[in-house]
Amino acid sequence: MPLLVMKFGGTSVADLARIKNAAEKVKKEVERGYDVIVIVSAMSGKTNELVGWVEQTSPLFDAREYDAVVASGENVTAGLMALTLQEMDVPARSWQGWQVPINTTSAHSSARFVDIPRENIDAKFAEGFKVAVVAGFQGVSPEGRITTLGRGGSDTTAVAFAAAFAAERCDIYTDVDGIYTTDPRITSKAKKLDRIAFEEMLELASLGAKVLQTRSVELAMRYKVKLRVLSSFEDTDETSGTLVCDEDDIMESKVVSGVAYSREEAKITLFTIEDRPGVASGIFGPLADAGINVDMIVQNISEKDYDEAHPGAVTDMTFSCPINQVARAKKALEEAQAKDLIKYDELIIDEDVAKVSVVGIGMRSHAGVAARMFRALSADGINIKVISTSEIKISVLIDRKYMELAVQALHDAFELEKA
Ligand code: ADP
Ligand code: ASP
Ligand code: MG
Repeated sequence: MPLLVMKFGGTSVADLARIKNAAEKVKKEVERGYDVIVIVSAMSGKTNELVGWVEQTSPLFDAREYDAVVASGENVTAGLMALTLQEMDVPARSWQGWQVPINTTSAHSSARFVDIPRENIDAKFAEGFKVAVVAGFQGVSPEGRITTLGRGGSDTTAVAFAAAFAAERCDIYTDVDGIYTTDPRITSKAKKLDRIAFEEMLELASLGAKVLQTRSVELAMRYKVKLRVLSSFEDTDETSGTLVCDEDDIMESKVVSGVAYSREEAKITLFTIEDRPGVASGIFGPLADAGINVDMIVQNISEKDYDEAHPGAVTDMTFSCPINQVARAKKALEEAQAKDLIKYDELIIDEDVAKVSVVGIGMRSHAGVAARMFRALSADGINIKVISTSEIKISVLIDRKYMELAVQALHDAFELEKA
């Protein structure tokens, strides 16, 4: 029997009426002859509420109990979806992560899949059930504890099931009708793309476009899952939405395909550090040990080049990291200074920054993208604080108050409304 994976995000299962609407889409696919694995998120806002309850109860919470609490939102929607389908005469059964079992690592709140044995769900399909409704975002550790996959993780559950069950397609139903040139909430000029290359989507997701969790794109790319994003609020068919596919399956690609942003960034500068071998590892070693996700890094040029015969040169080091890791980063650096592992005069933290990035595989073969980007930002008087580049993206750190303006300016500068 051909099999489809259909994932419904938080807004698509936000209340009973929306669950019914999603169930109708599932029923249609069953009537077309598919077995369906439905992956559900928690009702929108629920996971945030659960996280808030954990933090209020225990600021330095036990990660195992955090996962036990925050995974529960998906249990409710999985059961309700199965009930709704049953009411429509579609034989459906719900599955929590441990029942499948969805085996993950024990890295609580950012667990990774180890394996998803098919036997239990296959046995239910063999009994005549047409739909398995699986709670997204969660799994079970080797120790038998509940784990979660990181925020937005239901996308990754969906792709992992599509790979494990060799699904014909993995459809991600959400509150937008596809992947756009940028977040349509930031500019009405954002244009829906019919197709986007895995690599571009991977960059966009990791640079902040939360329409798909980064890991889901990685998995889809690795296991060649046919991945599609489409609306749960519109009538849809095989041609709807945006297909994430191989670069070779895209007829023509633009130099820049999309603009992404990340609001929750912070910039940390260590002033007056020595300029000699070992200083960078002295700084970033303790940060890595503290689990800080360091992103952009710049080191100033010092007045004179390092030279063993003339030590004493100094420089400054700046890096960015997620804003919610600033306190931990500061503590790690201060401890390293106290232990004489590093030496700096001053630590300056700027929590009012955002990252804006342009992404496109066409950049590999086109010069001048950075110049065009910087010109567009300067025309709006936006100052660039840090720059980083890779083969297919350019990112800048700017004042957060200019974030929307920068996204709009770049969208215009690269004429993405004509995508
Ligand atoms: P779900 O709850 O269905 O998982 P999310 O809120 O996680 O939905 O993701 C969908 C949202 O992603 C959209 O509402 C949109 O605001 C945002 N988004 C950010 N970048 C893009 C983009 N390039 N294309 C489409 N949506 C985007
Ligand atoms: N409910 C989880 C979250 O809000 C997982 C998801 O929606 O993908 O992060
Ligand atoms: Mg999501």
